[in-house]
Amino acid sequence: MLTAKMIKEAALSAGADKCGIAPMSRFDGAPKEMNPQLLFPEAKSCIGFVFRIPRGVQRGIEEGTQFFQYPSMAYGGINEIFAPQVLYQVGKVIEAEGYEAFVYRNTGARGSVSDMDGSPGNTLSPEEQIEVNENARTSTAHHRNVQFTRPTREGNACPDLQFHFRLAAVACGLGELGYSKMLLTPEFGPLQRVAFLFTDAELEYDEMYSGPPLCRKCGACVRECPGHCIPPINSGHTVRVEMEGKVIEWGDIDMWRCYAYYTHAGRYYNPFVPREVWDENKNGDLNLFEKEGTKADEHEIMKVYSALQQYFPSWVGYNMAKCGGCIRACVSMLEKKGGCMEGRFEKPLRTGKPWKMDR
Ligand code: SF4
Ligand code: SF4
Repeated sequence: MLTAKMIKEAALSAGADKCGIAPMSRFDGAPKEMNPQLLFPEAKSCIGFVFRIPRGVQRGIEEGTQFFQYPSMAYGGINEIFAPQVLYQVGKVIEAEGYEAFVYRNTGARGSVSDMDGSPGNTLSPEEQIEVNENARTSTAHHRNVQFTRPTREGNACPDLQFHFRLAAVACGLGELGYSKMLLTPEFGPLQRVAFLFTDAELEYDEMYSGPPLCRKCGACVRECPGHCIPPINSGHTVRVEMEGKVIEWGDIDMWRCYAYYTHAGRYYNPFVPREVWDENKNGDLNLFEKEGTKADEHEIMKVYSALQQYFPSWVGYNMAKCGGCIRACVSMLEKKGGCMEGRFEKPLRTGKPWKMDR
């Protein structure tokens, strides 16, 4: 008989760092276009897997010496290699017992609504690197192309349905959302990515996390975001959802702004773009960084990406993240002040003042 224990053992032995299981009822009330209950209507259980991001993958950005490892290992490596392997192995264990394993790896930006602002149809996405061709609106490869997507039968949502990964992780009892909207777990703080599997097997379920709050509401993520994308703590600009009575709340991040900053970081934090380019701000393309009060939207993002794409050292199939300011600030704070990362390492991530270019 298939049990939760069998699944968790298979997950850990295949390489996951943590596994939790939720009944599908925890998604009751989710918006239709993001409701995983619609993916596989007979599914009874959602199985969530955590894949830790080694702290050392952030070291190069923390020191300002190596920016390639984080996007390639912690985005590409986990999403494309490590997580699918675990889904495949655990799926085999489930199907060997006569149940179906609907695997769901990270599908960033393939949903029918924008992962930036929830709007339907074509829009930019930070994740998708589609092939550049003459139909693309520009040579910047960031467009989702979903204007023709329709439900396949009445009552369905449009394919490819994409649900909220971080909330699903909360549903599976894996952790909580921090103020910065990152998933925090007791074991790894903000350093992980997740993947999921849905099955028609009924299993023993994990409670949602109810220990001491994992987010300290310290505001380090707010202070260290180079784009001021995260609203100040106590500003009242938050997003709140409820799941089986558990209130989940996070800062209402300016996602478009983050889209620009987490890849390009701005003049003080991007060593790949010469100072003169920021100074010149040709055609006002870099207004988002250089001109206070510029509203971040799709149009401004396109200008930024078009102007700066030539300075990327190389693509990894994912954006060349140069920021990670909120993640490193969070790790550093949680290690020093406690919450969920203290005592894990001999030395803290940050031992001195964070770098900032003088220009
Ligand atoms: S990833 Fe960077 S730009 Fe985005 S919220 Fe975090 S610190 Fe700000
Ligand atoms: S930096 Fe502080 S406020 Fe931000 S998510 Fe981490 S613990 Fe929460």
